[in-house]
Amino acid sequence: MTHADPITIKRHVLNEMIEHATYSLPSEGCGLLIGQKRKIQTFLPLINESKDENQFKITSKQLERVLSAVSFINQEVVAIYHSHPSTRAVPSSLDLRNHMDTDVKMIIVSLKHLKPTVKCYEILNHLDYKECPLIIDNGSGKEVNENGKKV
Ligand SMILES: [Zn+2]
Repeated sequence: MTHADPITIKRHVLNEMIEHATYSLPSEGCGLLIGQKRKIQTFLPLINESKDENQFKITSKQLERVLSAVSFINQEVVAIYHSHPSTRAVPSSLDLRNHMDTDVKMIIVSLKHLKPTVKCYEILNHLDYKECPLIIDNGSGKEVNENGKKV
């Protein structure tokens, strides 16, 4: 699989998202990662309105309200996140089919194993995707990849 350009995420934002995924168990958690261009600054939790534990659903009413707030503060949606409580951090065919905007990346938090896995993808169309490496910004100016190595 070829890789797309990396996305930078602040360490505390990554941690907030993983915590949200954990609190949402046994359901899937979901939310937006907002910021500018390819830099994620803030995590915005959303309410999963699906009754099915193995899916997530966000009504357009909820999304519209959040999106108007995001544009009001001059930020954009960099990625949408959802969690996979018991499967790997790979988009399902349903995830690909339901992804609405190819400019928005898809982040999946997998809680399959004790240590959560976080992956970011660029969705090319409703069938195909590329992984975007996630660069974690520790706030000290030093950036590390998901394995903690300096980049
Ligand atoms: Zn999924």
